[in-house]
Amino acid sequence: MTDRAVAKLQALVRIPSVSDRDPTQVDIAAFDALLDEMRSQFPRLHESLELTLVGTHGLLFRWPGRASERPIVLMAHLDVVPVDESAPWQQPAFSAEIAGGAVWGRGTLDDKGCVTAICEAVERLLETGHEPAQDVWLSFGCDEEVSGSAAIAAVDELERRGVRPWFVLDEGGAVAHEAFPGVKRPVAAIGVAEKGTTSVELRVEGRGGHASTPARNGPTVKLARAVLRIDRSPMPARVPDTTVELMKRLAPHLPLALRPVMGRADQIRPLLARALIAAGAEAAAMARTTFAITTLDGSPALNVIASSATAGVNIRVMPGDTVDDVLAHLRKVVDDPDVRITVVERGEASPLSPVDEVFDHVAALVAGHFPDAVVTPYVQTGATDSRHFTRICEHVYRFAPFRMSATQRRTVHSYDEHLDVDAFLAGVDWYQALIAELPA
Ligand SMILES: [Zn+2]
Repeated sequence: MTDRAVAKLQALVRIPSVSDRDPTQVDIAAFDALLDEMRSQFPRLHESLELTLVGTHGLLFRWPGRASERPIVLMAHLDVVPVDESAPWQQPAFSAEIAGGAVWGRGTLDDKGCVTAICEAVERLLETGHEPAQDVWLSFGCDEEVSGSAAIAAVDELERRGVRPWFVLDEGGAVAHEAFPGVKRPVAAIGVAEKGTTSVELRVEGRGGHASTPARNGPTVKLARAVLRIDRSPMPARVPDTTVELMKRLAPHLPLALRPVMGRADQIRPLLARALIAAGAEAAAMARTTFAITTLDGSPALNVIASSATAGVNIRVMPGDTVDDVLAHLRKVVDDPDVRITVVERGEASPLSPVDEVFDHVAALVAGHFPDAVVTPYVQTGATDSRHFTRICEHVYRFAPFRMSATQRRTVHSYDEHLDVDAFLAGVDWYQALIAELPA
């Protein structure tokens, strides 16, 4: 028999709540259907919690506790990224099929697993007549994947009501298996900061013309040179304190020869930075600001020389760097006044949430439920809605209480996204304990 929580996850995954930067492209009916489905799947939650709608379909719930001095906010998002129809999904992307002990489909990991687990934890507690020790807020955005404004509206509402959360918990880290070379134990990584997302456009204008008489150094060539220069001149790498803490916590679980070195991670930062860069794209992204050349545009036809050529650059800004540092770096390495650099989207790195007794409170609960895991803070490379909450809360943590393999982590925003049933149910238990064990 399938657990009822699993059936609820399946019901939410089957609704294709795909967000889009262009509001006219959003399937409003799908989001309406999702909110309806949530009402029918979580009746007690909808009956007992106060609801404020934020943005078009964002939900902000308040579960009044016995006290409200140390309220918490549990976050997740309702929207998903689109599905590439040509990708070889083993199960249809919105089928929510169960196969091999997992629920398959877009949104299982990102982020309907969290939405369902949080709501089911609340539902279960309400069934037992539980009253939380502190106010519990649930904030579910509807446009996280398109950097939308629902989460900002939720923060505005909390600010208006004078709510200063004790901590905020959003997606981000997970109980990551096969996370670190040489470490056999899973790593329960709790994000304490996230990189900023900034995008720029490079544009070169020129004369264009007939492809039979090309002049040297046309717009496309200049653009290509600029792109290559950016690719060849990364920003300097460094190892922030959080990563040093990560290394220290991992040290006892590393192969014997490496333990003493990693235990002194703070004394060998330059060496460590080089090692991260060498360890592949995922590790390198933890050590520096990254530049990804994404869109490219030039001539509309094979026999026409472009009169303007553009490239989009998606930049993830490392805590410690600012957007202005990044722009100065870009101008310096491109070194060509004909290449115009325009900021399309400006996002600074988030502030660093402290690794203190509040972190320890969350970390202890993680350690209790996932005793085989090494619990550690880390700087996460992806962006979440929780960055907006740094405005009203110092302790913003990013962690989904699900075990995920390396393969599963690669399926996020890609194909074959799936969440193991056992991992999902353990996550429901974890959220339930988190709420049930709030200090008075
Ligand atoms: Zn997400």
